[in-house]
Amino acid sequence: MVDRYFVEDRIAEPRGHGTTVRLSGAEAHHLIHVMRAKPGGQVVLFDGSGAEFPARVEKIGRSEVDLAVLGRQSVDRELPVELTLGVALPKGDRQRWLVEKAVELGVGRIVPLRTERSVAQPEENALARLRRTVIEASKQCGRNHLMEMAPPQAWPDFVAAAKRCPHRLLAHPCRGDSASRPLADAGPTSPPEPVAVAVGPEGGLTTHEVALAIAAGWQTVDLGPRILRVETAAFLLVALVTRGR
Ligand code: SAM
Repeated sequence: MVDRYFVEDRIAEPRGHGTTVRLSGAEAHHLIHVMRAKPGGQVVLFDGSGAEFPARVEKIGRSEVDLAVLGRQSVDRELPVELTLGVALPKGDRQRWLVEKAVELGVGRIVPLRTERSVAQPEENALARLRRTVIEASKQCGRNHLMEMAPPQAWPDFVAAAKRCPHRLLAHPCRGDSASRPLADAGPTSPPEPVAVAVGPEGGLTTHEVALAIAAGWQTVDLGPRILRVETAAFLLVALVTRGR
């Protein structure tokens, strides 16, 4: 696996004598104490702009590392479609797992949903931790754009805002409800347009919340006869939409 590090500030294109970048915080800790880097070692930097920057370790301090940027390559590992996932996040480690898998599958944006039966949605410090998870997952899977962790949004606001996406899919168990179909019948085939998908909370969406989405043009999607946990349903729905792209 390539040794990748995230740089908060945009990295300038190296010219002439090149550009130097200083890593600090969690990224420097990883490079110094986990990877035990030595001067002269080669790594790859990314800054969320869509490019990768091969770099050489120049100087290692106690908590900072200076690197010489050796080049710039645009490397696109994004989905060919803009994908937004609205989800009433589960608690603790399951939340982290969901965010990590969403990054790996190429989701562009997660919106934590406030629904009638939601457990508490993440506060700012929890969102900051999830944004760190986004960086860790991007380092591992090679994405050069960071998935956006949006602030929590109330269900009616999310439904209204998603009108800009031509494809809108809500995971909703069938229970004899003829409107909820397997995705094979309902999903966009090769969608060039933005897609929004949504998954309800542990307690499920209320009849009123589901009706609101259907009235706004959402297609309800059945994911099989078993009731899945929130993170499993989110993973499956996203995987079915992206189909390994
Ligand atoms: N007791 C809740 C109910 O009956 O709706 C279960 C909710 S489930 C744990 C959490 C969310 O995952 C649901 O709101 C739905 O969005 C999604 N989900 C779980 N299993 C599903 C299935 N088989 N088909 C479609 N969506 C499912």
